[in-house]
Amino acid sequence: MPDPNGFLRYDRRLPARRPVPVRIMDWREVYPPAGEELIREQATRCMDCGIPFCHDGCPLGNRIPDWNDLVRTGGWDAAVESLHATNNFPEFTGRLCPAPCEAACVLGLGGQQPVTIKQVEVEIADAAVARGGLRPQPVPAPTGRSVAVVGSGPAGLAAAQQLARAGHAVTVYERDDALGGLLRYGIPDFKLEKRHIDRRLAQLAAEGVRFRTGVNVGVDVTAEELRAEHDAVLLACGALQGRDTPETPGRALRGVHQAMAHLVAANRVVAAAGEGRPALATLPDGTPIDAAGRHVVIIGGGDTAADCLGVAHRQGVAGVHQLDLYPEPPADRDAARDPWPTWPWVLRSYPAHEEGGERVFAVAVQEFVDDGTGQVRAVRIAEVTVEKVDGRRIVTALPGSEREIPADLVLLAIGFEGTEEQPLLAQFGVTRNGRGAVDARPDWQAGADGVFVAGDMHRGASLIVWAIAEGRAAAAAIHAYLGGVGTLPAPVDPARQPLAAR
Ligand SMILES: Cc1cc2nc3c(=O)[nH]c(=O)nc-3n(C[C@H](O)[C@H](O)[C@H](O)COP(=O)(O)OP(=O)(O)OC[C@H]3O[C@@H](n4cnc5c(N)ncnc54)[C@H](O)[C@@H]3O)c2cc1C
Ligand code: SF4
Repeated sequence: MPDPNGFLRYDRRLPARRPVPVRIMDWREVYPPAGEELIREQATRCMDCGIPFCHDGCPLGNRIPDWNDLVRTGGWDAAVESLHATNNFPEFTGRLCPAPCEAACVLGLGGQQPVTIKQVEVEIADAAVARGGLRPQPVPAPTGRSVAVVGSGPAGLAAAQQLARAGHAVTVYERDDALGGLLRYGIPDFKLEKRHIDRRLAQLAAEGVRFRTGVNVGVDVTAEELRAEHDAVLLACGALQGRDTPETPGRALRGVHQAMAHLVAANRVVAAAGEGRPALATLPDGTPIDAAGRHVVIIGGGDTAADCLGVAHRQGVAGVHQLDLYPEPPADRDAARDPWPTWPWVLRSYPAHEEGGERVFAVAVQEFVDDGTGQVRAVRIAEVTVEKVDGRRIVTALPGSEREIPADLVLLAIGFEGTEEQPLLAQFGVTRNGRGAVDARPDWQAGADGVFVAGDMHRGASLIVWAIAEGRAAAAAIHAYLGGVGTLPAPVDPARQPLAAR
């Protein structure tokens, strides 16, 4: 029986982040472990309410009150099992999820701070490693059916693990030289050290999943060849088409880049250092892309922008501004606009923000300014208002508000326009919709018979928790398509949307 008064006795507390001056000297994760005493105290704040709305907030349907109570009572092994029953990779979500479950925690209704669900999750995930490692699950007799998974991000890997555990022969094809999708070369180590991915991959490999890296499906191997070799194909290629701003004067100047180019280059340097190899942060053509000693302007207000900010600090930036088109959000939930338990529009500050830099809200870039040699030297911005008219965004600059911010490196973190246009799409008979995503039928099939889609490729740029949920659900649909025995869990259907008031 959970403690109904725990939240009255204990306030919400998280472990202290590593001190800024220390952590910006390395690439290690920002949060140290919480320690058993703190995490058991925090789990005690869960009152196991009659209707746990946190379940609906989490796309995976994680059994949050169950494992909170197991942690409270020290039942770590059972907590590990309960968490893995719904989530293949809690060490990723526990570190990286923005935790819509916490926005839906019933404590929030009475003006209390939510349970630190995400922190409890990561502690359970890490306990699994500490208490004997991520043991491979015994795999049943082979079904004789085989599945190709294209893309090794969280969607592809979750599906691969589910299908392998059902006895199917699974091969994951990845065009990069290393596995993990955006977790490998998009998200920096200070948010997710790559050893967590490697440990999980070892578990998948021991469960029979085969990996083929450096294979660009649609180019190195055709859809026809893949379909001849496998009984079903899951496309989980992500939504990696970066939004650009070609109409802004000066976009072609040297020093103006997509944010992902900066993140991938930095991640590759960190990966090389881990292998004892020296490397420079460069674009694939060898052009340097490094914030060291530079004045950097990051355009955009989301995860990608914050990751560029943290990377810039660690590279030794001279000065950095982060620009956002929208006004500064409120500190607390506006209940009229975003009532509990929906995801509120509030100011989100990431650890990177406490490391330095200046955030500028309600501004838009009017021009990237040339230094006379074809290199950017500044951005010219104007204060703006943004309105939605008939679903269209209208941005209006305030006359006389223009000014320049010095910049010799500009990073565009203004979102993604869906999955990339690439030969694979036509070969598998799938098309991008108006948002650049690929629609799925209710059974997760898209295009030709036996071709399924999941993750960001289907949903558009989203979150890891949604990618895992969609990977699990698509695996269930593929299992049914292959005539597998029984059913696999399907936490979401293709039409499922986050909790919303309207
Ligand atoms: C910088 C950044 C930071 C983020 N931070 C967070 C965060 O903190 N928390 C969070 O929840 N979410 C975050 N996200 C979003 C999250 O990373 C994605 O939602 C998630 O990775 C999507 O998973 P996926 O498996 O659908 O696709 P991806 O992770 O994008 O993986 C797709 C894979 O498919 C491969 N591929 C594509 N085409 C082919 C082909 N033809 N052949 C072979 N392989 C192919 C790609 O190389 C890639 O490895 C972030 C995103 C970015 C860009
Ligand atoms: S995966 Fe995300 S939404 Fe689900 S319990 Fe963990 S932190 Fe909450």
